[in-house]
Formats: sequence, C-alpha cells, structure tokens
Amino acid sequence: MSQHSSLQEHRLILQLLDERRELAGALLRESEALAEADNGVGIYEASEPSVAGELAICCDSELRLLELRELHLQQTERALERLREGSYGVCRSCGEPIGSRRLEALPVASLCLRCQMTSETVGVLSA
Ligand SMILES: [Zn+2]
Repeated sequence: MSQHSSLQEHRLILQLLDERRELAGALLRESEALAEADNGVGIYEASEPSVAGELAICCDSELRLLELRELHLQQTERALERLREGSYGVCRSCGEPIGSRRLEALPVASLCLRCQMTSETVGVLSA
C-alpha cells in the first residue's frame, strides 16, 4: 500500500513544477507591466504610504491578482517541499492525512478540511 502513490506523486510533482513555472512567468510579466505603467515605480519599492496609496487606487485589481498569484506560487513551492520531505498529504496542523479527495481538488492543500475550516473561522472571528 505504501507504493500506491509513487506514480501519482510523480505526476503531481510535474504538475506542480509546471504550474510554478507558469505562475512565475506570469508574475514576472505582470509586475514588469505594472512597473512600466507606474513610470518605473516598482511595486516592491513603493514603501512611501502616499505612493502605495496611489498605486492601490490605480492598480488595485492588478495588484490583487499579483498577490493571489504570488500566494499560489508560495503554496506550490511549499507543496513541492513537502513532497520532497515526504510530509505531503499530512495536515500540518493536526498531523492527520489530508485525504485524497481534497488533495485531488486542491493539490497544494497543507491543512485537512477540518483544520482549514477552523482556521478560516478563527480568521473571520479575529478580523
Ligand atoms: Zn488537520
């Protein structure tokens, strides 16, 4: 039974690597386009509140898209790391198996459904 996932894992790694490459490429293109649109003000250099505020107004949706992509990229990286470490598919909060159905739907999931829901509830409550 422990051999069951080697082929699946191999495919998953390829899929995640692919996704990572696409995300990284898109991220680069978009941040370059944003930087150009902002007259060379890089979004990461925009530490001045006024500049950041202006950027937030003019490029809000683009920035949000970038943030989402970046988040997704980080999650993909972490999933790859867990695959390498052999901790993939194990909930990082409670240590229980995440469940193959959830992993199929969300390959980068690092929390089981129960812990995910708990963390989301906590997030909503503390927000
Ligand atoms: Zn859990």
